[in-house]
Amino acid sequence: MDPAPAASAHPLILTLDMHGVPHRWVSWQHAIFYYAKDLVAWPAGETSFTFRGGVSRTTGSRSEIVTNSIIAIKGKALPARSFSQVPPLNNRELFHRDRHVCAYCGGEFSSQRLTRDHILPVSRGGRDMWMNVVTACRSCNQRKSGCTPDQAGMELLYAPYVPNKAEYLILSNRHILADQMDFLVRHVTVNSRWKPS
Ligand SMILES: [Zn+2]
Repeated sequence: MDPAPAASAHPLILTLDMHGVPHRWVSWQHAIFYYAKDLVAWPAGETSFTFRGGVSRTTGSRSEIVTNSIIAIKGKALPARSFSQVPPLNNRELFHRDRHVCAYCGGEFSSQRLTRDHILPVSRGGRDMWMNVVTACRSCNQRKSGCTPDQAGMELLYAPYVPNKAEYLILSNRHILADQMDFLVRHVTVNSRWKPS
């Protein structure tokens, strides 16, 4: 899976495949490329952005291109990758998945004060994967140390889960537009903490 492009002054454009399934974030330049090559199947968002190009020597008019905030891309334009791929595990997305809440004390902390806790410690054969990690504050992580929650007498306040593609797209972009968020939230799984209650 591609890492999300760096956030810039312009919002990222959400692309979908021909089934309307969220695919990935692209820069507006990339979206304009899709428009120019006639690869946009349909727009699905409520927001449009207009970009102005150079002035044509023959007509004297300024070129203009409009991109929608969510666009479906015609089949062959999308790289053939598995849509069911497990998103890579990063602290930023992990803390975001767990909404910056420590799984042991329930406190909400800034990223600097959070750690990735392996429920079954790596020293005991625990693996570094979504289902074995939760967000923990530094002091809870220290208290738990190389123990399982049971051994440390600590209880998990929430269960880990693997984010699906749509949720990963939410987690990996900090500047999501309202219509893009609405669209993605409809595609997250029921166990997601991003599911509206
Ligand atoms: Zn804690």
